[in-house]
This record gives sequence, structure tokens and C-alpha cells, in this order.
Amino acid sequence: MKKIVFATNNRHKLEEIRKIAEGQLEILSLSDIGCNEEIDETGSTLDENAMIKAAYVQERYGYDCFADDTGLEVEALQGAPGVFSARYAGEACRAEDNMDKLLAEMSGHDHRNARFRTVIALICDGEVHLFEGVINGTITREKKGNDGFGYDPLFVPEGDTHTFAELGNEVKNSISHRALATEKLMKFLLEKTQSA
Ligand code: IMP
Repeated sequence: MKKIVFATNNRHKLEEIRKIAEGQLEILSLSDIGCNEEIDETGSTLDENAMIKAAYVQERYGYDCFADDTGLEVEALQGAPGVFSARYAGEACRAEDNMDKLLAEMSGHDHRNARFRTVIALICDGEVHLFEGVINGTITREKKGNDGFGYDPLFVPEGDTHTFAELGNEVKNSISHRALATEKLMKFLLEKTQSA
């Protein structure tokens, strides 16, 4: 079975992808290949950061690899926090701090459209491929719900009235930006494996 590295140690992301690839592709994590170093995300876009992580693993460890990067892009804030979503309120800040900063920046804004965007970069057989998943929605005026992570208590997906954190992981994971990008990646990889 072909082995491919997902440049993450995030248990939830690995579990989700392994379930889809079961029996067709073996998905290895960073710790599975003995890569314990922190890969710096020095890019200025989601595409760049995803490519940096995938290339790091491919060049040093020789495995085909894919990596993801996600950002929350708020229209009234010209796309911020975007590529800085994880550290919007400062290096090593908590999700609560990021949400408080976002609510403060959005006070006085009635236009509250936003989107989550995930980019997955795949390096496979010497070629780079990018896959994108986008979900549109709006930013609430206060935190609602307890599930999920990151900005989930502030994001209401289009066509709904509840935040991701109120909808729960099962519903969220079936419609999310990451699910959409992952679906495109897995379709590509499985078709490639079957035609090999
Ligand atoms: P990463 O690229 O998946 O590590 O995501 C970067 C940052 O974006 C995270 O630290 C979160 O703050 C935010 N983020 C990513 N995905 C989600 C999500 O599904 N819900 C809420 N916040 C997210």
C-alpha cells in the first residue's frame, strides 16, 4: 500500500483522513516518521505555509506528503486574521484571546461576512498540487456554543442560525472548509492510486 505523510500530529485531523483512506493508502503522521522538529510557518499566504510544510517533509524525509493551513478571513477586516488566525492576539495566545480580539475589532461593524478557507498542498511523484475548501458565513456579536475549537463559537455558516460550536463536531465536520479541501485531496489521491 502506498505510504503518504500528512504533515501534522493533530489526532482529530489524522483520524478523519485515515477513515477515508482505509485499505487504500497508509497515512503517516510526523511522529510516525520521526519528525519531531517544529516546522516554521513563515509564508505570507495559506498556500505558501501549506507548501512550506509539505516540502520540508518531502525534502528531508523523502516521503510524498501533504500539509494543510487554515485561516478565518473577515471581509470588514480586509481578510484578517487570515494567515495569522492561530496567533491573532499574539504568539502562544489562547483561542479565547483570539476571539476577544476579533469581537473588539468587529465592534461597530454591521457588515459581518467572513469565510473559513483551508488550503492543502500535496507533493506527490515530484509534482505540487493545491486543494482549497471554503465555507462562507458571518461573525456573531458574542460567543455561542461549547463544541469545536478556535473561532467556532463566533462563526455561523451560511444558511444556518447556529455557530459551529453550537452545531457540534459531527455536523461541522461534514460541511467544513477542511472537509471540503480534504474531499478534493482524497478524490485525487484515490483516483491516482487506482489508476497506478
Ligand atoms: P490550522 O492551520 O488548522 O492550524 O489553523 C490555524 C488557526 O485557524 C487555528 O489555530 C484556529 O485558530 C483557526 N481555525 C482553523 N480551523 C478552524 C476551525 O475549523 N474552526 C475554528 N477555528 C479554526
